[in-house]
Amino acid sequence: MSLKSATSLALTVDVEGEWFGLPGEQGSFELQKIVDAVRNLELLLERMESGLGVRIPVTWFIRCDDSVEAVTGAVSGLLQSLEGFIVRRSALGDEFGVHPHLYRLQEGQWVSETGSDRQIEQVERAVRAWESYFGSLPAVSRMGEAVMNNSLANAINELGIACDSSALAGRKRFDSGFQFDWTGTPSMPYHPSTVDYRRPAENGEAKYRFLEVPFTMLPITAPIDLNPVNRYCNLAFRPELIESALKSMATPDRVIAVVHPHELLTSIHQHPLISHSATSLEKNILNLTAAFGELKFVLLSECITGHSEN
Ligand SMILES: [Zn+2]
Repeated sequence: MSLKSATSLALTVDVEGEWFGLPGEQGSFELQKIVDAVRNLELLLERMESGLGVRIPVTWFIRCDDSVEAVTGAVSGLLQSLEGFIVRRSALGDEFGVHPHLYRLQEGQWVSETGSDRQIEQVERAVRAWESYFGSLPAVSRMGEAVMNNSLANAINELGIACDSSALAGRKRFDSGFQFDWTGTPSMPYHPSTVDYRRPAENGEAKYRFLEVPFTMLPITAPIDLNPVNRYCNLAFRPELIESALKSMATPDRVIAVVHPHELLTSIHQHPLISHSATSLEKNILNLTAAFGELKFVLLSECITGHSEN
């Protein structure tokens, strides 16, 4: 009999370079292209806020890692290049989270870092560089390409991160440079079990202090698919794909959505999922409104306030 409250929408943005197929492509990037794409998105958000008559708070996950250092000279080099943007968006109330992509150089090529000790060392370096830039530790994090394992989950916890949003609930990939396993992960936020990061603690198991906040997954049927594939809610996906995926979904309490700035720019690359069109973000927000009713725009950290599942 309770009146259902509005669905919260946490718009998150992963600030990083372009990539089209393999994660390792992001080992190097053009710094100015990222800065320009972020500025383009900022102006787009301002236009959308005027048009929709609402403020759209954003959680920005910014790359800060060893390969950023290789490109810019500092682990926090991308943060430094975005300083004016960070000051402006902080004043508006946006939040920022650390987004390390874990690569290593192998015979001159950037490949995924698979060694768990080296992954942890990289995340620690990222967090320390973040702390020296901002003067405080990051409260939120997202691991590049959804990488996670028990050792990394423990490191995130030890570093005092309150909320990590890396999980692709139900997906598992160990191919073409991807290495993640979120089999059995719930769609709701949860405190991971120290025995298995993919799920909440059960039967007296210890749990981590941090909350894992999975991306909202949508059953998307792209032109390349025979059947729907659960993919993260990327609001730069082609709006007709999102619209048809939403038809089969029950109204959720919260939607954790993502875009990458370059996906909203025109591209010479045709992609079966990504629109590469500036209008897709607004169209997809309207798709969500049509499917779930009026949305409450929130920061990632706000949509989990008061959350406890165990
Ligand atoms: Zn990323």
